Amino acid sequence: MFRINDNFLQLAESYLFSEVARRIAAFKEENPAADVIRLGIGDVTIPLCQAAIEAMHTAVDDEANAATFRGYGPEQGYPFLREAIAEHDYRARGVEIAPDEIFVSDGAKSDTGNIGDILATSNRVAVTDPVYPVYVDTNVMAGRAGTPMPEGGFSRVIYLPVTAENGFVPELPEEKADIIYLCYPNNPTGTALTRSQLKKWVDYAAANGSLILYDSAYEAFIRQDDVPHSIYEIEGAKKVAIEFRSFSKTAGFTGVRCGYTVVPKELKGLDSEGREVGLNHLWNRRQCTKFNGASYISQRGATAIYTPEGQRQAREAVDYYMGNAAMMLAELRKAGFEVFGGENAPYVWLKTPAGTDSWAFFDLLLKECQVAGTPGSGFGPAGEGYFRLTAFNTRENTREALRRIVARFG
Ligand SMILES: *Cc1c(COP(=O)(O)O)cnc(C)c1O
Repeated sequence: MFRINDNFLQLAESYLFSEVARRIAAFKEENPAADVIRLGIGDVTIPLCQAAIEAMHTAVDDEANAATFRGYGPEQGYPFLREAIAEHDYRARGVEIAPDEIFVSDGAKSDTGNIGDILATSNRVAVTDPVYPVYVDTNVMAGRAGTPMPEGGFSRVIYLPVTAENGFVPELPEEKADIIYLCYPNNPTGTALTRSQLKKWVDYAAANGSLILYDSAYEAFIRQDDVPHSIYEIEGAKKVAIEFRSFSKTAGFTGVRCGYTVVPKELKGLDSEGREVGLNHLWNRRQCTKFNGASYISQRGATAIYTPEGQRQAREAVDYYMGNAAMMLAELRKAGFEVFGGENAPYVWLKTPAGTDSWAFFDLLLKECQVAGTPGSGFGPAGEGYFRLTAFNTRENTREALRRIVARFG
């Protein structure tokens, strides 16, 4: 009989969100009257902005007429969107990225997961701990992660702990890392890297011939001037980094689906004969073979985000979430918690009270405040003793959740 890809059997069951849902359901079963507020939501809640909606309505009409109908589009994305991205996300910040270095897709999850197609399985991968699970699991599927270790984690993956002790700034690895996943502003910790902190990684990659896979899905939430929006703001980054972006959190496209990946032409890797090969060409080849382009309608919607109204409207939603985050930081501190993140990202990462691990705190918060969050340990062993709250709920619900938390712990 045929064989399956055994690597999939090494994957840990995705236990975090199903276990969260199970515990909330059990609690509601026992307490039918309880009004549970979910601050664990990893999805946006504000509807799409008017500019994107209008553009998509028009795009639907385009599809209804023979004269304007669009079938298969370019695998790399329509020029109108690639040009808008190059202009607004890069040139406006003093970074020159050519439209043909931008690959539009159906989102950053697919791209961060698929990028491994063009990279050898012999590479050693480094990730932060805690981490967005996609980076590790897709390397397990590809056979790049080694074998599961009894203490957790995978034998060939280099884990870079990010905790309060190091200010959530990963230290350079002792073993040489060939591929480094960095997500900043970070999910789940909500923390960011300053220009000089990110520069250390770009310099490390340049010195060691490493590739940085930079996930900047939360770029729109940055408030601090010294936090870079793109890794290409750092000199030399075009030679060492691929950047992933998404309209999901920036503009509410989690359901519509649109994102993009930047693969600079200067970026080169070695083949097995030691010859340099451009990654832009490889990714283009990969996308042309396995991807048939993001939908025309989504791309019209995404392009509208770059109009002045679109920019203003998308900004309003981001500001609303960041208003929640600011309130969360202030109130949680009032309640006596040590809190991190929340200044350049829609996530607040709090230290659980002494003697209460992440899951015990989940149960405590649910039982005594009817507030649900996400246990930090679910994102990696270094997340133990931490807890993630998201700023994606409504102002009213967020305020009420905080009132209950302050009443219980303050
Ligand atoms: C939400 C998120 C994304 C975006 O994923 P899409 O597929 O574009 O919706 C990417 N990376 C991280 C870390 C995220 O949290």
